[in-house]
Amino acid sequence: MSVRLHPDSAQRAHHYRHLIARWRTVARAAGVTLRPLAAVGEFTVYYLENPAAWQRRGAGSGGGGFYASAGIHGDEVGGTEGLLAWAQADLAKWNVAGRERPFFLVPCLNPWGLTNNRRVAADGTDLNRIFHRNAPAPVGELMRLLARRRFVLALTLHEDYDAQGLYLYELSPRAELDLGEQLLDTARALDFPVDTRRTIEVRRVTRLGLLRMRRNAALRLLKIPAEAIWLYQHVARQVFTIETPSEFSLSARAALQARLMRTCLEQLEARTPQGFTGTSAIGEACGK
Ligand SMILES: [Zn+2]
Repeated sequence: MSVRLHPDSAQRAHHYRHLIARWRTVARAAGVTLRPLAAVGEFTVYYLENPAAWQRRGAGSGGGGFYASAGIHGDEVGGTEGLLAWAQADLAKWNVAGRERPFFLVPCLNPWGLTNNRRVAADGTDLNRIFHRNAPAPVGELMRLLARRRFVLALTLHEDYDAQGLYLYELSPRAELDLGEQLLDTARALDFPVDTRRTIEVRRVTRLGLLRMRRNAALRLLKIPAEAIWLYQHVARQVFTIETPSEFSLSARAALQARLMRTCLEQLEARTPQGFTGTSAIGEACGK
């Protein structure tokens, strides 16, 4: 009997070139270009955005744009696969001529970690703890590009080895923008469990599965130079960190990440339709 030893799809989630090849296909179909963000060792980190939409809305105006990144921790492939799955289903519709919404996406911030199934980068750095001045590649390059843009929503896609279900960090300036409960309902409707711990990473949950933080002052107390906190303090009105349990089925985790991203963007669309061009968003995005 001969045994066929092709890698299964879960193993290919750690194949960076395969990930980027799939992103090229998605980008082409949506009419956008995958651009190099930074060279890191033998790898190139990429991003994609829709420059025409940014120009039309005005990069500094808040223009209703959204940001998402994945793979800053290389052992969290539910995030990288989830962002890709969302893009395969939905990216093109956010780039329809004349009705674009500005976006800025980073498919994988830590290619070495993804390839080697490690949280950290090749030199042992946790890239999610270096969002400060003089950060090395690719975080420094990312911060410089993002500093010139404003977002109404940012999503950072993560996973947690200890999690027993989905949980979320929501950084939201005021109650009427909150989406956390709705995202948890989305997960429950898919029969995806919500984490039942009452304390997660030393913080008491706002409600099961949700850690919501309201004010910049509280965030400053944390003093963690993490991506989500930097985004909230500098360029984004509202930030979600989605944490799926990395011991669950990869296809279920990726599908949930993609679905939650879709839910967020549907809500964003309902609140600030694509006709929205208000420069008043400057205050909203940065005036917290
Ligand atoms: Zn993580």
